[in-house]
Amino acid sequence: MQVEIMTPSAEDTREVGEAVASLLRARDAVMLAGDLGSGKTTFAQGVARGLGIEEQVSSPTFTLVKEYTGILDLAHVDVYRLERVQDVVDLGLEELGGGDDVLLVEWGDTIEELLPVDRLRVELITADEHDDLRKIVISASGPAWVDRFAELEAAVMPWVVTA
Ligand code: ADP
Ligand code: MG
Repeated sequence: MQVEIMTPSAEDTREVGEAVASLLRARDAVMLAGDLGSGKTTFAQGVARGLGIEEQVSSPTFTLVKEYTGILDLAHVDVYRLERVQDVVDLGLEELGGGDDVLLVEWGDTIEELLPVDRLRVELITADEHDDLRKIVISASGPAWVDRFAELEAAVMPWVVTA
């Protein structure tokens, strides 16, 4: 289950995050992959907005994990360096994901094996560093997404680029 879109601006990426948030359920895990500056935190801000979180979401670089209260609670984790993977394990990611929080992990690829089978992977790709355009590949895995992936596709339809 995969859909590919393009966003021409940071605000569009936030709107995509907001659209994705409308499909999220408690205990969902979302991995955000992509280079530094590709827009992972920007996407997370949109998800937070969609979950009715009023607090400003910033990069949790120095905190590793930050929790926000909303319609659904959000745990925002940033595994910005490989050596932090151990920190995440120590922190008990399973425990975090075991609550009712939506788990949002930046650079989630490094800890993919620790995440629940039901998950959404959002990869942000910067084609040209002088350009605001981002390619975003959203892939879903696990049974929990089967019955709502079509809805997700419909929600991000405005950003689907048809050749
Ligand atoms: P990351 O968390 O991946 O390191 P950030 O979200 O912190 O990235 O930063 C992305 C930067 O790129 C922000 O300054 C944002 O305004 C800018 N930007 C420009 N165009 C886009 C876009 N289409 N999507 C997301 N961010 C964009
Ligand atoms: Mg970030």
